[in-house]
Amino acid sequence: MSEPNQPGSRVLHVFNNILANTTEAAELPPEVPSRRWMYWQMTLAVTKKVAHAPFSIHTWAALRRTVLANILPDNIVYRYKAYQRGECNRCGLCCKIQFQCPFFVDEGPFNTHCSIYTTPSAPQACLKFPLDPMDLRLLQREVGNACTFYYEGAPQTLSILEFVKLYTQGVRQQFAKRKLKEAPDSGD
Ligand code: SF4
Ligand code: SF4
Repeated sequence: MSEPNQPGSRVLHVFNNILANTTEAAELPPEVPSRRWMYWQMTLAVTKKVAHAPFSIHTWAALRRTVLANILPDNIVYRYKAYQRGECNRCGLCCKIQFQCPFFVDEGPFNTHCSIYTTPSAPQACLKFPLDPMDLRLLQREVGNACTFYYEGAPQTLSILEFVKLYTQGVRQQFAKRKLKEAPDSGD
């Protein structure tokens, strides 16, 4: 499931899942009984996904999105956002591929939501979907082309050198943002 993207609404760090984050301080949504339950459900979901790997290309598509969403800095990961069209219609189909996600809440046709989407525990792969046309294509394959996102146009193809330059810039920017966020409030 995806929601309108607001890149400025939260600070997304490079290697977000590796570096310490702020999940400990965050309040739990009402649908999540405890942090232990949440992590257990996440572990189960990952295990199920891995178990499907020999039979389903979706596991590899999800793995691709997870890795890219976590290792690429914002300036690269959001390169396609300017060309992304359409809005999520909340059909919920993307949260029910292979199995129904434990955080999926179904309140009727086109009225679904993710119980952890607005928390720091939301998977980067869900927050940043779709990353690019390939990501969307791989998902459309699983949901019978029912996802309402699409692309018009594309950014210019990067050479390896341009990619490295952009990546380095992006990492620098993101660490600078992180430093700013973590700096104690100077408050005059
Ligand atoms: S965490 Fe689960 S319910 Fe939430 S957006 Fe991702 S797949 Fe959907
Ligand atoms: S499959 Fe449905 S719920 Fe998922 S992102 Fe696309 S429109 Fe939204």
